[in-house]
Amino acid sequence: MTMRDSSVYTRLGVREAINAAGTLTRLGGSLMLPEVAEAMVDASRTAVKMDDLEARAGEIIAEVTGAESGYVLPGAAAGLLLSVSACMADDDPSRIQQLPDAAGMQNTVIMQKGHRTDYDRVVRMAGARIVEIGFPGEVLAWELERAMTEDTAAVLHVVNRPSSSLDLPTVIEIAHRNRVPVIVDAAAALPPASNLQRFTHAGADLVVFSGGKALRGPGASGIVAGRAALIRSIALQHQDMDIREEVWKRAHRLGVNGGERPYHGIGRPLKVGKEEIVGVLIALLAYAQSDEQTERSRLDGQVGFLRDQVNQLMGLRAHILPDFHGRPQPIVRVDVDAARLGMTAADVVVSLDEGNPAVCVSDEPILEGAFIINPFSLRPDDPETIIGRLKAIVAANAAPADTHKGSRSTGI
Ligand SMILES: *Cc1c(COP(=O)(O)O)cnc(C)c1O
Repeated sequence: MTMRDSSVYTRLGVREAINAAGTLTRLGGSLMLPEVAEAMVDASRTAVKMDDLEARAGEIIAEVTGAESGYVLPGAAAGLLLSVSACMADDDPSRIQQLPDAAGMQNTVIMQKGHRTDYDRVVRMAGARIVEIGFPGEVLAWELERAMTEDTAAVLHVVNRPSSSLDLPTVIEIAHRNRVPVIVDAAAALPPASNLQRFTHAGADLVVFSGGKALRGPGASGIVAGRAALIRSIALQHQDMDIREEVWKRAHRLGVNGGERPYHGIGRPLKVGKEEIVGVLIALLAYAQSDEQTERSRLDGQVGFLRDQVNQLMGLRAHILPDFHGRPQPIVRVDVDAARLGMTAADVVVSLDEGNPAVCVSDEPILEGAFIINPFSLRPDDPETIIGRLKAIVAANAAPADTHKGSRSTGI
């Protein structure tokens, strides 16, 4: 009727979705603040030298994170790829040109086994090889120490992993003693906002955050905060080099600082638009100043409503849990009594997904017969819509054999 019918998705004939799963990339990331969207439109109207824009981005990221410098890329995964290539190639144009063939360079990246994720493919994409240490729940310090060789380019440390066992300060101490840089994958480590500074303060050389998750920047954005020399290498391997060397040395920010002009680097396909850079910077500044208590109250209100309403429905039982990944935010776990409802948790998740709009919940605990409603990306009216859809699903299923009227569950 109103806004919804005139949305750009409706005009293009695309079904909208409700993101009840958090900040998932497959749902387009998070929802941007109006001021972020407006800044992106503003950016779209004027040309800008990308070397100027990234240089200023570096200063802003440095101010917010406490790192020496920073850089914007089209996602945290892109940030990890270029972090690894920076640790291998430095500012050497011939090594930059050689990647992803990393023969003859320091070309291995050490990871604790429990830190492996399906994002770490980017290490291989950069041309490095992963050297895994330890077991899912245990890694001993000597093993990291012994894994350091002349070929080691970096240690990649992933935060928010429950199965980690060597903590970041220990990893940094061992790595730095061996003159090896530490890259921190902090893609999903927000909130709390204090984590913007925490890993840098601990001594990490490069820290990568997703822009499309809790920062509420554009879906295709991510930031790297870190040492100036490594950030310069990232810039050299990322920025478009379609400029003659004589001019580059006098008029391009990367050239006037000395050195030779490389060709387009390994990061050239990981292009980021001026709109995304502006968007994630405005989002970052807003996030750093946001009131975490207000946001927490919104989430608490939404999960309280969802739990109470779900517990009115037959065959579903809801309770509030802390976030799986240790972030200070609540989620709702809904357990499905398959015998009673005549549907499994997966059936309920698929039914929610099939409607219009698609209601997308997290299926992380599906094998335990449960799903998660994560309130992070919900708009004010979304909880009601979700409950309406769950009611319809329960009613449709209960209707044919509704012989349990007297013992209808109200949950706990
Ligand atoms: C989401 C995520 C990434 C990738 O972030 P993008 O910004 O989507 O590229 C990398 N590592 C971890 C641990 C993540 O959770």
